[in-house]
Amino acid sequence: MTGQPTCPVSDTPMEPVFSATVLGTYAVTYYYCEICGLLKTEKPYWLDEAYREAATDTDTGLVARNIGNSALLAVILEGLSVEKGKFLDLGGGYGLLTRLMRDRGFDCYTTDRYCQNLFAKTFEPDAHFSADVLFAFEVLEHIEDPLRFLTDAFERYGCKTIIFSTLTFSLPIPSTDWWYYSFEGGQHITFYQPRTLGCLARRLGCNYHMLTADHHIITDIDIPGIARLVLSNAHLRRLYSIYVGRKRNALSKTWDDHLRMKERLRSG
Ligand SMILES: [Zn+2]
Repeated sequence: MTGQPTCPVSDTPMEPVFSATVLGTYAVTYYYCEICGLLKTEKPYWLDEAYREAATDTDTGLVARNIGNSALLAVILEGLSVEKGKFLDLGGGYGLLTRLMRDRGFDCYTTDRYCQNLFAKTFEPDAHFSADVLFAFEVLEHIEDPLRFLTDAFERYGCKTIIFSTLTFSLPIPSTDWWYYSFEGGQHITFYQPRTLGCLARRLGCNYHMLTADHHIITDIDIPGIARLVLSNAHLRRLYSIYVGRKRNALSKTWDDHLRMKERLRSG
């Protein structure tokens, strides 16, 4: 048990709300911020163990989620009229989302300090890389200080737009049988409500847009009303995705990337 923490989003003291057994071993206290609605564990000292024992073999939904996310991103990027930009997937894992985005014709790159890039080799940011939009799928619930994480990312990559997923909750605070706590895995340490993400966006000088309970945008781009309507309505989004899918068919980078990789191999 550590001292009472301060909320990383609103800089105010947090109150203990419950405790749970993490990784089957550690009694961990969870704290809540009344001001912004953020819920987090006490300072996580078990992460080395949590990541060492990560059982990714059981993640049968990995590929399906990436395909779904790439389709959703295509719609959002077209809706925001930034489709010709450069994109960077933070915590991009095996690089699967980046490969899928490139197959849809988006100039996408990946970075992940903790995972080997298998599917998008060479499409990693160099020291001077700047992006138009960042992605962070299933990242923010692993982050101890989301404000610092996003401040650093926006500064490093020269943009203030991020499309991300994290499953939000609404009050009352979910009981300890909420699957997303993932006590047994120990990797989820921070939990958000939509209003938490709104506070986070304001601290960054941005606006927050909720697409679903799971998908969110924080951006300094002024999204036109019509685009906001299409993106936030599941039915309109589906219709728009048909148009986007047809439009992007001819733009795929699959073959160009193949030639580029062959050229690199040849030049050693
Ligand atoms: Zn707070």
